[in-house]
Amino acid sequence: MLKNRRSRLARFFEELKLNAILFTNLPNIRYLCGFSGSEGALLVTMDAAWLLCDSRYTEQAAGEVVGAEVRECAAVRMDTVAALAVENALVKIGIEAAHTTVAAFRMMSDKLPGIELVELGAVLDEIRRCKDQAELERLATVATLASQALHTVLPNIRPGLREVDFAIDLEFEMRRRGADGLAFDIIVASGVRGAMPHGKAGSKVIQSGELITIDFGALKDGYHSDETVTVACGEPGSRAREIHAVVRAAHDMAIEAVRPGISCRELDAIARDYIRDQGFGDYFGHGLGHGVGLQIHEAPTLSPRSSVLLAEGMVVTVEPGIYIPGFGGVRIEDTVVVTADGVRLLTSAVKQLLVF
Ligand code: ZN
Ligand code: ZN
Repeated sequence: MLKNRRSRLARFFEELKLNAILFTNLPNIRYLCGFSGSEGALLVTMDAAWLLCDSRYTEQAAGEVVGAEVRECAAVRMDTVAALAVENALVKIGIEAAHTTVAAFRMMSDKLPGIELVELGAVLDEIRRCKDQAELERLATVATLASQALHTVLPNIRPGLREVDFAIDLEFEMRRRGADGLAFDIIVASGVRGAMPHGKAGSKVIQSGELITIDFGALKDGYHSDETVTVACGEPGSRAREIHAVVRAAHDMAIEAVRPGISCRELDAIARDYIRDQGFGDYFGHGLGHGVGLQIHEAPTLSPRSSVLLAEGMVVTVEPGIYIPGFGGVRIEDTVVVTADGVRLLTSAVKQLLVF
């Protein structure tokens, strides 16, 4: 499986006439060889690969790295790269420009004299967009775990509960069910705080009659989940119900339209145009969604600016919202897989307006 992923790099080697690529972005390293440590680099040629790490990770790497030789770097990692370059007659090495600091680039230039360093764009973004079977299984597992955890703790919602206490309960429940951690800080935005799309759970006390937007995700085996529900504490007003119904309809329409061949921009427009036609066009500022995988936000992006066409195996969120300053907001989000003939949902929390 990992070998298969690396073989997809062949066209970059050929097009750019590279001898090797030095990967420094950790999710890319994990994708290509399985290493899950917090520091390391991966040097890949057409027919060999070396995972470079320090002594904290040598044993871990020996257990999890597939298809690459583990090289422990005693001091400066770039010295090991230089030694490998000499051993393997490498003269042109691609580097990940977006994941190389100026200081690291200077160090590379110093330590690798005579080697041409080629700045690469996001080579793996394109490859990682379409998930393989092993990835889809992990994404399904983590999404199910998180959705089930939410349903276990949702009945805790009541007037007088602080947002942060709900978030702690949800985090505990996800961990109890096997999550390695959170995909991101849980968002619990109640009442007027719901107007902030990324209102992290705070000390605000939930009041009766308020809407509460809960955006949450778990992390397991390197893969993230991402889901949002908006629920009510006590009977919501008619305006709150109206906004929820508009967002729900926009969400459902967009999910129904997911299929191979539709562009990210077209999909975004389905939800955005509907929300605008219902009179809330000024209150939906962000894109419709994003890819999810080894990173919580990755390619492709569903936005008015993206012409990328959806393809089988892509995993994206669909998350329209309406945010009205001084009033509150609603967002509804699912994570879906693009299948050969349409779409399959990974997340499974109930999306109707539940009242607690
Ligand atoms: Zn989310
Ligand atoms: Zn999201």
